[in-house]
Amino acid sequence: MVLKPRVDSGARRVDAVRDSRETAFYDPICPSIRYELRKIPRIDLREYDRKVQEVVSEWLATQKKLTDAHVHVQLPEDHAPLSEDRMLNTFAASQAQDFTLQELGMLYKRLFPDQVVDAIVFPFPFKETYVSRANEYILTAKHPFILIDLKHPEETCELLHNPKVLGLKVYSDLVDKPFKEIQISDMVPECVMETLNKTRKALMLHVPGSTNVGDPRNMAWLESACDTYPNVKILLAHMGRCATKEDAKIFEQLRKFKNVYVDTSYCTSPEVFQSAFESLGAEKMMLAFDFPYGASRAKEVVLDKPINLPRYGPTINPIISVEHYSYELPELRQYYLRERPQITYNAYEVLLAIISASNEVGGISDAEKGKLCSGTAEHAFPSIRKMD
Ligand SMILES: [Zn+2]
Repeated sequence: MVLKPRVDSGARRVDAVRDSRETAFYDPICPSIRYELRKIPRIDLREYDRKVQEVVSEWLATQKKLTDAHVHVQLPEDHAPLSEDRMLNTFAASQAQDFTLQELGMLYKRLFPDQVVDAIVFPFPFKETYVSRANEYILTAKHPFILIDLKHPEETCELLHNPKVLGLKVYSDLVDKPFKEIQISDMVPECVMETLNKTRKALMLHVPGSTNVGDPRNMAWLESACDTYPNVKILLAHMGRCATKEDAKIFEQLRKFKNVYVDTSYCTSPEVFQSAFESLGAEKMMLAFDFPYGASRAKEVVLDKPINLPRYGPTINPIISVEHYSYELPELRQYYLRERPQITYNAYEVLLAIISASNEVGGISDAEKGKLCSGTAEHAFPSIRKMD
């Protein structure tokens, strides 16, 4: 499929989003995700979702336990309100800004009724988050990662000594620099890496800007970090943001890093999972859904030619989503509307892509499935097993 790029002026985009958001809110087929998020405990599975749920349940039938390695939880009162401009210019913020542990529990019961689901959780990494309050709440969870406080890294370092903390979440939105200039080293200063190494904790890393882990700057950081801080486990969010078969060639180079893992959240490309099974193996892959974002009807599509997304620039793998966002082009919205009868919750889309990849490699064994679903996370974080 080829889409013609079209860049609107910012003001026109704002109007378009406002109008279409209202329409989407009342659309009986695809209510907006913000509407749905309030309803998450009572998620309504459509006929297509139920069919997908059957496929997913059958594939997971041998797995009693799942460990979801990437979840955001936060109380609504633990962040300042996000301005309309911010909501329109950040894909994640346009969809959800808070989500409680209780809501998460109800969501798992609805989407994975046959499994016990454990979760590695961290706050929402927005500038507006009140970091110390959000971290206080996260510490009430079983398996918490704290959020970095870039203004007070010494407080972050102190908190990393808490034995309950498994790791640290960092993110580009917390860095006070233009989006395209942000590097990993801006997201996590050396003094924090030193403490992570000393305390043997993990780093949840969403590589910055529109890059994936294969970008030479990201690989150079990774090489150096693995060398200098050998006790730090590095979890690359969203399969290192690899979206195509071409991107996924980098997995060959990642296998040499003993402590580098990928989380499956938000990746909906069977080819990427196939490469990961072949190059990294399930012992380096952690099942993850990025809730509450994994509860939106959304998936990445791979186009024949890149399109020029406002803010991101040329992109071959845009997200099509029930929610509108500022750098969505009208062409993408139309593509979404056409595809929506076959678009289910993103968490299920992730699993469908994994199942398809597994079939492509001739089916993965129950032991491999067990590693992907929970074993890899339990191996990296023994406390997850102990607390069962
Ligand atoms: Zn996330």
